[in-house]
Amino acid sequence: MSLEDLDVRRARAALPRMDVAARLTGLQADLDRLDPACDAVLITHLTNIRYLTGFTGSAALLLVTPDSALLVTDGRYEEQAAGELEQAGVPVHLEIGRTVAVQRQALVGASAAHGRLGLEAEQVTWADQQRYEREWFPDVELVPTHRVVEARRAVKDEGEVARIELACAIADAALASMAPHLEAGPTEAGFASELDGAMRRLGADDVSFETIVASGPNGSRPHHLPSGRVVSRGDLVVIDFGALVDGYHSDMTRTLAVGGADALDATQRRMVEVVRASQAAGVAAVAPGVPTGDVDRACREVIVEAGWGDAFVHGTGHGVGLDIHEDPRVPGTGDATLDVGHVVTVEPGVYLPGHGGVRVEDTVVVTPAGRRTLTRSPKS
Ligand code: ZN
Ligand code: ZN
Repeated sequence: MSLEDLDVRRARAALPRMDVAARLTGLQADLDRLDPACDAVLITHLTNIRYLTGFTGSAALLLVTPDSALLVTDGRYEEQAAGELEQAGVPVHLEIGRTVAVQRQALVGASAAHGRLGLEAEQVTWADQQRYEREWFPDVELVPTHRVVEARRAVKDEGEVARIELACAIADAALASMAPHLEAGPTEAGFASELDGAMRRLGADDVSFETIVASGPNGSRPHHLPSGRVVSRGDLVVIDFGALVDGYHSDMTRTLAVGGADALDATQRRMVEVVRASQAAGVAAVAPGVPTGDVDRACREVIVEAGWGDAFVHGTGHGVGLDIHEDPRVPGTGDATLDVGHVVTVEPGVYLPGHGGVRVEDTVVVTPAGRRTLTRSPKS
């Protein structure tokens, strides 16, 4: 989408509504099917609380039982929480606890009748677990749950895909408007801030993560942060960035050649060709039912064949949604398989100290027919 025909305000107004209440009732219906089975779960991870209730504040706990849900937060969020729960249309009882003691009392009371209480094993610290066991819930059995909400979040509905797609369109338009400025020789940091500003002006809520601009020799460090280095002719510039819409992220990397392809040396040109071919092979492999390891292999084979297997130093991709990095990972552990509604990145790279780096990354949604690429900036 070009800058001229991207009307973010209108696009936002047309976004499909998200059925947040169905997420909560879906989890409630599945509680006794969890392994180990739970009579209730205490959700502590804020992104998961947002997903299940629509609440976006920075402090909350959510107790989910088969037929009720209790959101406990503090006085700062009294008005906001009530408004967000109502807007999301979720039947959640809201308890405002001005002190931790009041919050604890509410949760202890609501969980007392439930024998086995699940905690989010990946989110609860050792200290939290000790406190919950000794002080908060001494009379119930605490059991670990593993990525219960994260697994549900991995599959996006139409409303979520539309938000990620709009975030991608904003990033595309921002890059289209700012890329010509590279020829004027900005610093990495200056260009990053121009790009961030363009995304905000276009209507992004924020940037998705700290923008990476890595030029020339800095490009060999995959997560180099923008420095005062002046971008110059013959540089490859790795630009990795995204926009945020309604909590949903986009993620895209393009590697631009300052001065055009003619300004590059033979090694740089080959790096660009190989990574582009690798990335295209990875995207082409994305389809429902495909193990994430196959997508990784499709990318890696092309780079290994070029003799640069050791220079592809990171994973091939990751899920994108309310978090910039979420499930499914590519390659996943075990038998992770792509499903319709998964949104993943495909982002191979080659990093050669002295020569710099090339990475190309798209955000892709898995569809019944295969895939649809949501980031559309040109790769040449
Ligand atoms: Zn990225
Ligand atoms: Zn990424």
